[in-house]
Amino acid sequence: MKIDLHTHSRVSDGTDAPAALVRRAATLGLDVVALTDHDTFAGLDEAQSAGAEVGIDVVRGIEISAERDHNSVHLLGFGIDEQDPALNAELDKVRQGRSDRLSPVLAKLAALGLPLTPEQVYAQVGDSPSVGRPHIADALVAAGYVADRTEAFDRYLADGGPAHVPRYAIGVEQALGLVHAAGGVVVLAHPWGRGRRAQLPPDYLATLVREHGLDGIEVDHQDHDAPTRAELRRLARSLGVVVTGSSDYHGTGKVDHELGCNTTDPEQWRRLQDRIRC
Ligand code: AMP
Ligand code: FE
Ligand code: FE
Ligand code: ZN
Repeated sequence: MKIDLHTHSRVSDGTDAPAALVRRAATLGLDVVALTDHDTFAGLDEAQSAGAEVGIDVVRGIEISAERDHNSVHLLGFGIDEQDPALNAELDKVRQGRSDRLSPVLAKLAALGLPLTPEQVYAQVGDSPSVGRPHIADALVAAGYVADRTEAFDRYLADGGPAHVPRYAIGVEQALGLVHAAGGVVVLAHPWGRGRRAQLPPDYLATLVREHGLDGIEVDHQDHDAPTRAELRRLARSLGVVVTGSSDYHGTGKVDHELGCNTTDPEQWRRLQDRIRC
């Protein structure tokens, strides 16, 4: 049984349509795939219809852009009441904040000698309801300023980079409360990837579990090397939370993140499902 609980379609910053992503998952032999686009549920109906056609189980999910002390923290949510008004109001604010940030980023890029029009960025947005940094990165690639998304982030767009502009994000604890109130469960995505470890130390993860009911931790992820995975797995087990593994597939938007490159143990998925209330 192959289970991948974290993927992105062109409804956020991936490059496959939701149905195409699901068909690819079936071709690659996955049994369960969750679509977890950033801050939107908009691709889920299409993904689920495709799952019914090709005979694989599509899990309705989301990856929420939260923050702790102005550092970005990603939370995977599953089993959520997608009509929940309080959660949707926050997701609206995140998406709006992302779109509002476009002009100040373009001003910074212009000052750096990399002029882009909003239209050049919108050409990269796919079916996403908001304009994120990956789309700006893709516009920089299309304009020939950089070779790929990674170079765009490393040189300009990464947190603290010369063209970075902060945007609204939900507090981690607030997001946990909103998802739980909407019947869902929360898995902390790639907590120790990309130098985030210092921002999310073990005692903080313990607090999230004990005081805020964090349900799971994504351990097997491409941003975690082998020693990091081993240590995080030990910590997750000692805290009694569910351990997940996933690809964080983005189509051609991220290399080395093929569907199913990491998977979740069926027993862990069962535990997570048991915690869903909706
Ligand atoms: P935004 O929510 O618009 O600020 O953009 C966040 C998105 O950018 C997420 O999909 C991240 O995976 C991606 N991202 C953030 N930092 C990097 C980085 N250093 N390299 C590549 N992608 C990144
Ligand atoms: Fe992404
Ligand atoms: Fe993420
Ligand atoms: Zn992701």
